[in-house]
Amino acid sequence: METQSTPRPISKGTCVFCKAELAKNKMTQHLKFCKQRLATLATQEKQSQETKTRLFHILAEGQYNPQYWLHFEVPASESLWSLDRFLKDMWIDDLDHLSGFTINGTNYSTDYPDDFFFFSEEEKTEEEDLSEEEEEKALREVIDEVVSQFAERFASSLGIPFNSDPQTAEWVAEIKRPRSVDELIDFLKAERVRIKKEERSVWKDEQDIPVETRHRRTLTLQYQKIIVEQLLDEVEDCSMEVSLGRVLKVGQKFSYIYDYGSSTYINLRVIGEREGIIQEKKEPVQLLAQNERESYKRRRNLCSFLLKILRLLFLVPYVGSLQQKLQWDTLPIA
Ligand SMILES: [Zn+2]
Repeated sequence: METQSTPRPISKGTCVFCKAELAKNKMTQHLKFCKQRLATLATQEKQSQETKTRLFHILAEGQYNPQYWLHFEVPASESLWSLDRFLKDMWIDDLDHLSGFTINGTNYSTDYPDDFFFFSEEEKTEEEDLSEEEEEKALREVIDEVVSQFAERFASSLGIPFNSDPQTAEWVAEIKRPRSVDELIDFLKAERVRIKKEERSVWKDEQDIPVETRHRRTLTLQYQKIIVEQLLDEVEDCSMEVSLGRVLKVGQKFSYIYDYGSSTYINLRVIGEREGIIQEKKEPVQLLAQNERESYKRRRNLCSFLLKILRLLFLVPYVGSLQQKLQWDTLPIA
């Protein structure tokens, strides 16, 4: 939500290692070459008995207040919980509300049951982990169920058996190809992107194709979409237990929302990764650089308070324009 107001001055922040004060757009580069940081890392590696592990370098900034930002490093083995805790610590003072991440089209929420697992707990405790074969079998059963559940409806609306459409049959065969759960999730997410793209182009590009064929194509895409979403619902863990290494990679942009009522939005981006030592196991997220944030916390809490009053006075329709003018991070719910 960009307003046409005068551009904000570039905010400055401080490198945790050498205490240098730098503009926001210079910090990434500085952290790469900061002598103090490199010396600290070298000493750590020399003295520590620990083995190296994969670490993500992440930049976080306020979505509506990008002048508030911070750089940090976190082990890929940590879960979204660690990130949630860290962002709450750094950004927000009250901690009683729901929060969540949106990564690659999936919403991970503190509200989602933590014990989610594609396979039930009893099955897991009996035998620690399912063998690859058992996992594949269970996965195949779920896929068969979902596909057949929707095949009938598809057939009745098209007037032909689902699998007699060669393209669909091929697609179903591809979904059923033996894979691990993680591989299936990756495949389904790629399919989600492909389907969206094709849906847009069906009516645009193929001008010489008969209307009936287009209808059928649209319908097929619709059913593929339903199956993809249904399967993702069945097999994807959307809790905060998910490990960062599973859902993040260099270049990945994602977002964080705190308190779905008067929300705070934070944008995040993985700007790099390296193999290194975790400095403190109890505090695995390591701050690298930050700009001043206390005034933001105070402002955020004040905005949240004002919003509650406006709601009580039934003035919610005016909150949007006020929010823009004041560049609040708290937004009303429609
Ligand atoms: Zn530095």
